[in-house]
Amino acid sequence: MFDLLEIGLLVTMFLWGSLVGSYAITVQTRVKAHEKIRGVPSHCMHCGKVLTLRGNDLWPIFTYLIRRGNCKYCGINIGSSTLVYEVSGGLVILIICLLLRAWGVLEVSCFALLILGMAVERTFLRI
Ligand SMILES: [Zn+2]
Repeated sequence: MFDLLEIGLLVTMFLWGSLVGSYAITVQTRVKAHEKIRGVPSHCMHCGKVLTLRGNDLWPIFTYLIRRGNCKYCGINIGSSTLVYEVSGGLVILIICLLLRAWGVLEVSCFALLILGMAVERTFLRI
């Protein structure tokens, strides 16, 4: 069975994976629209309104479900691919973590993945 620490790590890693999925769909959308990938804040591709954490606009999976897939500001449907990418990102990381658990290295690997992810985000991926 899973202990409380493992459950916490798995939930955290799922959420972290959903952030990776959210980043992937953002990059894909911006490349298709010929927009810069870095240096531009998250925004609605239709109305251009800048999205913020404070406005609860940027929480992967949760924001999509709360807003029923629509932009909070203009109401346009952003498409189910956003939710698919975010859930898929979370599931991929969750599966990796379950494999790491089976090998007995879950805790160390999760912390290493989180630190590596933050370093990569800070260094290369800042949107
Ligand atoms: Zn909008």
